[in-house]
Amino acid sequence: MRTETAAVIGPIVADLETSGYAVSIDEDWGPSPYDPHSAAREVMVRTAVGGGNGILVGAPGDPVTAEMVAEAAHALQDGIIEAGFYETGTATIWPSCPRHPATHPLTPTTRGDEVFWSCPGTGELFCRLGELGSSRA
Ligand SMILES: [Zn+2]
Repeated sequence: MRTETAAVIGPIVADLETSGYAVSIDEDWGPSPYDPHSAAREVMVRTAVGGGNGILVGAPGDPVTAEMVAEAAHALQDGIIEAGFYETGTATIWPSCPRHPATHPLTPTTRGDEVFWSCPGTGELFCRLGELGSSRA
């Protein structure tokens, strides 16, 4: 995986795999639809249940921001939640909030240049994105 791809999607892919969702990644999916002549890329990330999400990553050497990492996490999380709804009529709650388990999933939240999973109700931060396994293994 290229450095910028790993920086953008590595944390959410780690959390998906920790939770048992198989992930496959097509790094050469295509140029960025917003900047087709640059070296920025759209990477296709497929999960066994969620279909595919195109995730924008920068060109080699471009800075990777916490916002990009959080946006990728949101997109892939939505893929999982929507796939659950499509299959069962009930939205999958992933990753489930430890304080409100049947109520809502955690949400990716930036703090400075880091991304955390937080409760959307209270704003409490539970763990860094990419570290779900260590917090609830
Ligand atoms: Zn909560």
